[in-house]
Amino acid sequence: MAQAKGKVYLVGAGPGDAELITLKGMRLLKEAQVVVYDRLVNPKIIRECSADAELIYVGKAADKHILPQDKINALLVRLAKKGKTVVRLKGGDPFVFGRGGEEILLLVKNKIPFEVVPGITSAIAVACYAGIPVTHRGLTSSLGIFTGQEDPNKKDTSIAWDKISTGLGTLVFLMGVENLPNIVSTLIKYGRAATTPCCVVQWGTTPRQKSCPGTLADIENKVRSAKISPPAILIVGEVAGLRNKLNWFEKRPLFGKNILVTLPAEDNSRLSAMLEDQGAECAALPLISIRPMDDYSRLDSVIRNIDDFHWLIFTSQNGVRFFKDRLRALKKDIRILAGIKVAAIGPKTKEAIEALSVSVDVQPKDFRQEGLLAVFKKEKIKGKNILIIRAQEARDVLPGGLEKLGARVCVVPAYKAELLREKVGIKDFLSGFDLVTFTSSSCAEGFFRAFSKKEIFFQKNKFKIASIGPVTSATCRKLGLKVAIEAKQFTLEGLASAVLKYYSK
Ligand code: SAH
Repeated sequence: MAQAKGKVYLVGAGPGDAELITLKGMRLLKEAQVVVYDRLVNPKIIRECSADAELIYVGKAADKHILPQDKINALLVRLAKKGKTVVRLKGGDPFVFGRGGEEILLLVKNKIPFEVVPGITSAIAVACYAGIPVTHRGLTSSLGIFTGQEDPNKKDTSIAWDKISTGLGTLVFLMGVENLPNIVSTLIKYGRAATTPCCVVQWGTTPRQKSCPGTLADIENKVRSAKISPPAILIVGEVAGLRNKLNWFEKRPLFGKNILVTLPAEDNSRLSAMLEDQGAECAALPLISIRPMDDYSRLDSVIRNIDDFHWLIFTSQNGVRFFKDRLRALKKDIRILAGIKVAAIGPKTKEAIEALSVSVDVQPKDFRQEGLLAVFKKEKIKGKNILIIRAQEARDVLPGGLEKLGARVCVVPAYKAELLREKVGIKDFLSGFDLVTFTSSSCAEGFFRAFSKKEIFFQKNKFKIASIGPVTSATCRKLGLKVAIEAKQFTLEGLASAVLKYYSK
C-alpha cells in the first residue's frame, strides 16, 4: 500500500511584526508537524509552533550560506512523501520575491498536495510603518515592486529602467541596499526628478525599524552615514513625502527603547506586551521561579481545619493558585470557605480569588502589606483568627502588624519564590538596555545574583531603573541602584504607565 501523502502549506509570515501573520497562517502553523522557515521570520512566530513540531531552519544571513533553493525544494518533497503536514514559512508574502513558485513547481511535479497562504509583503507594510502609503489620491495611482539586485548597468537587465523611471508613480525596491547608488543614478538618468522624495527603511515593522528619508539626489549619502544595511526597502515617489505627516510607528512614546523586564517567569509576557504596545523592545529575564513546596502537610492541615479561621488573606495570585491546587488534591472545594472573610492584597490577587467564584471582602487601595494592615485597623479583628497564605519567603509586616492589633495570626507558605541561582553572566549584556524594570524586591535581589556587581555598576549609568513601588525602590536603593521611575499604582499596569509617562516628557 502506498504511504499516505503529506501536504505542504506555503505560508507567508508577514514582514516582521509577529502579529502581521494571517489567522489562517497561524492556525496551520500550530497544527504543522514540520515547519521549514527562513531567516526573516520573526522568532516570536516560530514560538507558536506545536511543542513537538520539527523545526527546520534553512536560511542564514544574506551574504552567508543559504541552503540552496533546489535543496529546499527537494526537502519539502521528501517530508511530504513521509506523510508529514509541512508548513513552509516565508517572510512577507511567499509569492513576492519569495521563490514560492519554485518550491510549488516541484511539489506539482511530484503530485504532492499543497496550499498557499498569502502574507503581508514588506513592500507595502514596511512603507506603511514608515508612514508612507504606497498609493495616494492626487500623488500617484500606480505602484511597481522591483528587485534591487539587478544591476541597471548590466546589458541584459530585465527591468525596463527607461520606462519605469517616469512611467510609474511609486517604485519600491527590495534587496536594493548594495545597489542603491546604481538604482538612484539610473532613475535620474532616465528622467526622474532628482528632487523626488524617497526613503530607505531597515528592519521595518519591528522595534529595530530605522528610516532614512531623503531625495533621489541625496539618499545615497544619507543611507551611508546612517549605516543602513539589509534587510531594507527603498521607496521612491511623491508619496514618500507624506511621511512628514503620517509617520506613526516611530512616533510611539517608547519606540527605540530597549527594556529588560525582570519578573517571575509567569508574568513576563504581560508587562512586556504593555511596553511593546507603546513601541519598546523588551527582553524578558525571569529571575524567580515559582515552585511548589516540598511538603504540604501544614497547608493541608489548615485547609482541613479552615473553620477555625475568621479571615483568610491571600498576598499573591500564586498563593491563590497553589491553595486551589491543594483543595483539589484534598478533594475539597471552595464551599469550605463559606462564612470566612477573604482579603486580597492587590487587584490581580482579587481577580484570581473571584475567578473561583469567591467574593473578596477587603482589598486595599495601597497594594502592599502596609496597605492591607491600614484597612484591618478599621476592622474589629481583636481575638480573631487570621490565616495568611503566601510565599515561603516574604516580609513580615502584615503578620506582625495584625498581631499587634490583637489578632491570632497563622502564616502558611503555599509555594516557594526561588531566586535563580545561576549567573546570566553574559558580558556586556546589560549595555544594550535603556531601562530595567523590577516588580518586586526579590527581582531586584535576583538581578544582583544574575549579574556580577561589577557589571551592574559598570553599566549603571547606561540604563535606568523602574520600580513597581516604594518597597521595591527601597530595596534597589539599598543595593546601590538609583530609581528613576516608580509606579504610582503598584501593579504591572501602573508600572507600564509610569514608564510611559517618563518617556513621554
Ligand atoms: N517575500 C518577502 C520578500 C523577500 S526578499 C516579502 O514579501 O516581503 C527579502 C527582502 O525583503 C529584503 O532584502 C528586504 O528588501 C525586504 N524585507 C523583508 N522584510 C523586511 C523588513 N522587515 N524591513 C525592510 N525590508 C524587508
